Parts: sequence; C-alpha cells; structure tokens
Amino acid sequence: EGRRTDTPLLWFDGELASADTLQAPLTTHAMHYGTGVFEGIRSYATRDGAAVFRLPEHLERMRKGAELLGIEFDVQQAFDATLETLRANGHRDAYVRPLTWLGTGADGITVGLDVPGLSQHFMVVTLPTIVHLNGKRARLTVSPWRRNPATSLPPLKLCGAYINSILAKRESRLRGFDEALFVDDEGMVVECTGANVFMVRNGEVTAVEHRDALPGITRDTVIALTGAQSRAVTHHELLDADEVFVCGTAAEVAPICALDRREFGDNPVTRELQALYARVVRGEESSRAAWLTTV
Ligand code: PMP
Repeated sequence: EGRRTDTPLLWFDGELASADTLQAPLTTHAMHYGTGVFEGIRSYATRDGAAVFRLPEHLERMRKGAELLGIEFDVQQAFDATLETLRANGHRDAYVRPLTWLGTGADGITVGLDVPGLSQHFMVVTLPTIVHLNGKRARLTVSPWRRNPATSLPPLKLCGAYINSILAKRESRLRGFDEALFVDDEGMVVECTGANVFMVRNGEVTAVEHRDALPGITRDTVIALTGAQSRAVTHHELLDADEVFVCGTAAEVAPICALDRREFGDNPVTRELQALYARVVRGEESSRAAWLTTV
C-alpha cells in the first residue's frame, strides 16, 4: 500500500520524488510563454482498487498537443508514470495532472521564441481532493470573452491557451456566477471554460458541437452512453432547452440550474445520466469496463 503523508510524491523526469524537493528554474520557457501541455484525468475507487478512466485517450490528446510544440512525448512512459504515481501515493479517488513543458536552453537563457534545443520535461501529480462543478447545480453566464478560435489556437490542452478560460472564469465569478459559457460571434454555443455543453429537449439529448471547443473525452463518453446527436446549437436554443448540463473529467456530469436569467428546473434526465456516469467510472457497468485501467 502507498504512503500517506503531507508531502505527496510526484513523478518528475523519470522518477518519483517528494514534491517539496522539486524545483524548476525561473528561466523556464513554459513560465514565460505557456509552452506546455497538460491533461486532466480521473482515477476512481472501484471494487478492484483504483482505476483510471480512459487513460489512453487522455494521453493521446496530450501527445497531439506535445507534437505541436515539438515536445517528444512517450505515451507508454506517461501511462506507466501515471499508474506509478497513483500507487506510490495510495490515491484512489483522485485527479491526475500530467504536464509536459519546455524548460531552458543550454545557456540557461530562454527568452527567444525558437523552441528547438530547449530542455523538455514531464511530471505527474495526483491530487486526492477533487474540486470542480461536480455535484453542484451550477449557474452559467454567457462570457463577454470569445473562445480562442481553432484557427489561432487548436483546441488542445496547451497551457498558454488556458488564459482564455481563466479570463472567462474570472469574469463570471466576479459577476456572481459559477462558470462561463463561450458563445461565438454568430451566436453559436462553443463550450465552458473547462467542460463541454449538452442540452435536453423533449427527452432528447444533444451534444453541442463547435470547432473551437475541446473534443472532450467525457463528451464522447456521454454520447456513447446516451446516443446523443452532436450538432451546432445556438445560444437561443440553449435558453429554450428543458435541461442543460456540462461535462468534463473534473466536472463529470454537472446539471446547470441557470443560464443568466433563465432558470432550469429539476434536470431529471441529467440526474439519471449523472448516476449512470458515476456507475460507469466506478466499474459498476461491466459493458463499459474497457474504459478503465486498473492501477
Ligand atoms: N473543454 C475544456 C476547455 C476543457 O478544459 C475540458 C477539460 N479537459 C473539457 C472541455 C472537457 O474535456 P474532458 O471531458 O476530456 O475532460
């Protein structure tokens, strides 16, 4: 069994080390320019111990982001490192954060924008506490900010790109809401700051599709579980829906209780789906066991 102390073990560049002994130089390229790629992954306590949900899919998305930045990313190594870190810390219900980033040049000076020659790093941290919209009936507001267009920044988990989400989240919080909804110039729904959007109308589940939105793994899961159709949805349609929910690795399936001044009722279809999702991720739906990697 893994240890439980105040300082968790982190995976950093090929080995486990105590979090309080690890440092990165102040000239780290990723700190100046956001040149890193991360993932957000969940592990769950199941009857067979801890299990990671859709780990290969998360690491494949990470590989794509790394490739864009010219970061070499070994999916198998990341896979093993994730499981090892969870085991070492004895974490079961946990949020797993792998991060790969560009470090420093041979001369230690990294203010240029050319990335070849910079050191490349990889870490995994596992957090036993999970904080997001899950369980909560969140209040949404349309963001005054536009989502990064895919033509400027591909919808991958590139560190710097998340400034866009952070601005939108911050603005929504300042205005007393839980979360921001990105809508584009044409009034089409894009996504939230860290979750994809769905609506329910007359019992029918629809996944919001938009080229600027992150192709979420939870979104894919929900589509597989419900047979939801995936299509472009207008802001107006969302206001007109019977239920709205958002989903993501951390958010899981989160019912929305309000979108600006529009209040939604009980979200019965969402509730049912929330329960199904909870069973799937905990290995209680044997037909979906292939989505879990036992730690
Ligand atoms: N959109 C954004 C912007 C996100 O950061 C996330 C969280 N990764 C999602 C959607 C949901 O994606 P996933 O279901 O793969 O976690």
